[in-house]
Amino acid sequence: MNRYVFGPVSSRRLGKSLGIDLLPYKTCSYNCVYCECGATTDLTITRQDFFPLKDILAELDRVLVKKPNLDYITFAGSGEPTLSRLLGPVIRHLKEHYPWYHVAVLTNGTLCMLPEVRSDLLPADLIIPTIPASDQAMQDRIFRPYHNISVSSIKSGLVALRKEFSGQLWAEVFLVPGINTGKDELIHSRETIISIRPDLIQLNSLDRPGTEPWVCPVQRLELIQIRDFFAETGIPTDIAGFGQRGGFFSHTHEHLVIS
Ligand code: SF4
Repeated sequence: MNRYVFGPVSSRRLGKSLGIDLLPYKTCSYNCVYCECGATTDLTITRQDFFPLKDILAELDRVLVKKPNLDYITFAGSGEPTLSRLLGPVIRHLKEHYPWYHVAVLTNGTLCMLPEVRSDLLPADLIIPTIPASDQAMQDRIFRPYHNISVSSIKSGLVALRKEFSGQLWAEVFLVPGINTGKDELIHSRETIISIRPDLIQLNSLDRPGTEPWVCPVQRLELIQIRDFFAETGIPTDIAGFGQRGGFFSHTHEHLVIS
């Protein structure tokens, strides 16, 4: 039984995807109301190794030596992948020994203000960060972050990442009906996205029970209207799992979803 590697799973966004989980459950800099993995038990911004690098690489090698047919190897799982200091070493190992695989990182973006985190991410092929809320009050309401993470620092980190990262950057907007689907909030999100200049905007919404029972999915018609509003930026805009049963997933849930 594997401890760090899961799947491959069939992911609508990433095709056939092998997951890597570098974190103990549930370690995150956010405690999102919509998190489908449950409440964050270790709310932190402290980067750690968490597990021995040699154990992770040995397990990865055992799986990859069989040369599985994959579209992506994806860092996701039990929390925020950039909290692991081993993210960079594991990505570099993959790129050195298995350069034919594409590497994706699903992140909440909160630590991208740190140069060392951006440096860890640079060898990846695809980064999917979650866009922060329009202001601190909304941020605290939806994402319930570690106490000293500011919206402005997250935005600056993502803008800096875009400048340094030449791979694919897809901006995820997680929509919670009645909370961040109003006109003002959408305008702010769109402005944030324009400043980051992603290659793709991905709208996401609840697909299975979140941490808070009052969170519900956005209705199809409203999703289409919101998609059209974001598409006015000229940036391709997609709805995650659109038209499919069980197709949504946010950056931690790839291992739980067969889309
Ligand atoms: S959805 Fe992602 S960022 Fe939010 S609490 Fe869950 S693991 Fe953390």
